[in-house]
Amino acid sequence: MRYAVISDIHSNREALSRALDLIDGMQVDEIVCLGDIVGYGANPSECLALVRERTSLITLGNHDHAVNDPKAKYDFNTFARSAIRWTVAKMTIEEKSILRSLPFSISLDQFHFVHATPHQPEQWDYIFSAFEARLYERAFHERVCFVGHSHVPGIYSMNPKVLSYNSTGRFIINVGSIGQPRDGDPRLSYGIVDTVAGTYENFRLEYDVETAAAKILDAGLPKSLAERLFIGR
Ligand code: ZN
Repeated sequence: MRYAVISDIHSNREALSRALDLIDGMQVDEIVCLGDIVGYGANPSECLALVRERTSLITLGNHDHAVNDPKAKYDFNTFARSAIRWTVAKMTIEEKSILRSLPFSISLDQFHFVHATPHQPEQWDYIFSAFEARLYERAFHERVCFVGHSHVPGIYSMNPKVLSYNSTGRFIINVGSIGQPRDGDPRLSYGIVDTVAGTYENFRLEYDVETAAAKILDAGLPKSLAERLFIGR
């Protein structure tokens, strides 16, 4: 089986369409989406529809959750908060109820899929290092746990002596973000894991940042949300 794992689309239709076009040519059996379909960008409804056209394997992200509970306490900054308010006003009741129905995690094959962390995913904690990743070693039973949330791609081995991906070890893998990369590289990011070949690969692709950013400005969303797309921060 070949799985494409995408995450953190954040209402960026240009990035999502580009990623899906490429994934279509990569002999993938299933696409899994780790959530945060909405928030920050200008096309929440379009992105939700596009993701659901391609897969029913979708986990809940904190921004998806916030759309249904905007008053709840999140560690969102001012810009994220105003984007959530904008998204709440923009989406239909039906679309919001689709987001509400998403599970926190999915277990499939040898993989655990979750937006933030395998332990208490509803706390929306972040994994930024191998040290932090290893704290979750016993929080999942599958071989590999795929996460998003930080928007920074990375492969974290549960064994400090193992430095790169292999088909027998245990790993937490962050696939990065489709719609708002934050590792200083503005190209969209996703991963493909192949259970037959025993490989995992992270892909980075350029997309039409200009259009995505212009839509954010036209929508009256915070300017900084458009600017950051050009620098990947
Ligand atoms: Zn996110």
